[in-house]
Amino acid sequence: MDAPTCLKKLEHVGVLAFATVDGHGAPQVRCISAIHYEPDALYFFTARGKNFCRELLRDGRVQVLAYTMYKEMIRLSGTARRVPDEEQAEWRDMIFEEQPYLSNVYPGDTRDIGVVFCIKDMAIEYFNLGVSPIFRESYAVGGGMVAGKGFAILESCIGCGTCRRVCPQDAIEEGRPYRIRPEHCLHCGNCFENCPVSAVARLPK
Ligand code: SF4
Ligand code: SF4
Repeated sequence: MDAPTCLKKLEHVGVLAFATVDGHGAPQVRCISAIHYEPDALYFFTARGKNFCRELLRDGRVQVLAYTMYKEMIRLSGTARRVPDEEQAEWRDMIFEEQPYLSNVYPGDTRDIGVVFCIKDMAIEYFNLGVSPIFRESYAVGGGMVAGKGFAILESCIGCGTCRRVCPQDAIEEGRPYRIRPEHCLHCGNCFENCPVSAVARLPK
């Protein structure tokens, strides 16, 4: 898996959940399909009057989530930036061409109320629950940064093997210390809760 393939998969899903934070710190989620996909970026259209637009202009942080028919979760965390004025019409018209229903929603010149945003700096999480063992990976695109998540085993591990026995995905291998294979870890926390010497740490440490 890689970032461009994840973006392709998002394109196939079509309608994505976009989460922002409003002025009161409350989560707000919308389904968005007015999107154009590049191999390393995502352009989307909304209208100036919408709270969504105001939240993007004020803060810009956005999380995008999709779930495929193959039980793959793809989460994109990034910063949405308003496309420069001189490029607005070009990207907007491309989105309208690719999503013909938009011409019914915003007929004629009413599409001028729209604003196009772009996400170029992002981290993408891919999480596949449809394979055994489960598989996850993260990718940084542009200036995006991947944050460590889940759990890790510390040097204080005494090698008792308890974590390995309670792991639902057989994601822990023997060693000194034992080691979690992050690509197969559910982040369920069973190893963390059962280690007798607290040698499993939550990430980021
Ligand atoms: S349960 Fe704790 S001490 Fe035992 S092997 Fe796992 S990490 Fe090491
Ligand atoms: S968090 Fe869960 S899946 Fe991951 S290593 Fe620990 S027990 Fe296994």
